Amino acid sequence: MQTHNDNGINPVMGTYNRSPLSFVRGDGAWLETETGDKYLDFTTGIAVNSLGHGHPKLVAALKVQAEKLWHVSNLYTVPEQQALAAKLTELTFAEKIFFCNSGAEAIEGSIKTARKYFADKGEDSRYEIICFAGAFHGRTLAALAATGNESYLNGFGPPLAGFKHVDSFDIELVKAVITPATAAILIEPIQGEGGVVPVPFPFLKDLRELCDSHGLLLIFDEVQCGIGRTGKLFAHQWTDITPDIMSVAKGIGGGFPLGAILATEEAAAGMVPGTHGSTYGGNPLGMAVGKVVIDTIAAPEMLETICQNGLALKQKTDSVIDRFPDILSEIRGEGLMLGLKAVIENKKLVEALRGQKLLTVGAGDNVVRLLPPLTITLEEVDIAVKALESACEDLRATEKTMDKKVEEV
Ligand SMILES: *Cc1c(COP(=O)(O)O)cnc(C)c1O
Repeated sequence: MQTHNDNGINPVMGTYNRSPLSFVRGDGAWLETETGDKYLDFTTGIAVNSLGHGHPKLVAALKVQAEKLWHVSNLYTVPEQQALAAKLTELTFAEKIFFCNSGAEAIEGSIKTARKYFADKGEDSRYEIICFAGAFHGRTLAALAATGNESYLNGFGPPLAGFKHVDSFDIELVKAVITPATAAILIEPIQGEGGVVPVPFPFLKDLRELCDSHGLLLIFDEVQCGIGRTGKLFAHQWTDITPDIMSVAKGIGGGFPLGAILATEEAAAGMVPGTHGSTYGGNPLGMAVGKVVIDTIAAPEMLETICQNGLALKQKTDSVIDRFPDILSEIRGEGLMLGLKAVIENKKLVEALRGQKLLTVGAGDNVVRLLPPLTITLEEVDIAVKALESACEDLRATEKTMDKKVEEV
């Protein structure tokens, strides 16, 4: 693979630490390289290829739409948007949907929706949003300010004002930072990049009560944990509470760039003509694909299978952890959103798994994320667990050799 120009410069901006590995096709849970090597994909473009690669229904929907109409603009009524929005409102708390193209845009739009809600009530000075340590909300400037991670913010000028961060899921700490300027609370029901950290359900419930008693809006970021990942269409559906606004992306397009803001009619009240927009948002191609993704994943049998296969993966992984306590310490998460906490450096585990032809992705808290397609089979779960065992054996052998070398020195 040629990556550099004749003058030795890689024309792709160097914003990522990329593996030299590259793929030319995909089928279900499998990715194939140019030379025909097959890898089991437990990364899925970071929880994006929810139905795996090349799903026949998605390919068909995209082809049919591509032959009809690609793009028209939101100057016109887009019937495909009406259809997907109707489906999403039928399946969730939401009454209003705005379509965009990515997670960061869904977050930006959610923040704007919350701020505008108060501005329209004459409360312009009420714009602050309470967020949590360990969160990840995206890379645009507002999303970065909401994320609050210094290492991502450094070098990009003053962060957008109006975000406060609470260090742990402690309701007293949240109460302590509420002021007359507070507009909303923003939280991922399960933190993804932070290391697959589930927020305790009682805490989500406490946040809902706090928002109700203080007239605040509750925003859930379900960009990663939504779209069936946890075995419910949305992770918060494991609880009996709902947010006022929710950001969605990643899995909803199954690989087609697509995001959405879901809101109650009340919370969306400020979003009137001229307040927000996106050229591509709600593009017929994305809508056609998104409709198939939602129809497929929202089926009760599908969600049930995700739960069963997630449980199988978790239990089988647990028995590997028991045998390799020097390499692995814990598996956590819900459904097929699992985090494997490593004892050794998580990067080394990702590399060793890649050596066994299993693709995974690191996260905070020294975790390796297991994010297979939601269509994964039990046979494929077993292949992944075998790969994990082999990777652990290899790692144990190298650690031992290294210990020996240290002794010799
Ligand atoms: C990935 C992610 C985002 C940002 O999504 P992009 O599509 O990369 O902009 C926001 N929130 C969460 C929880 C995410 O996992």
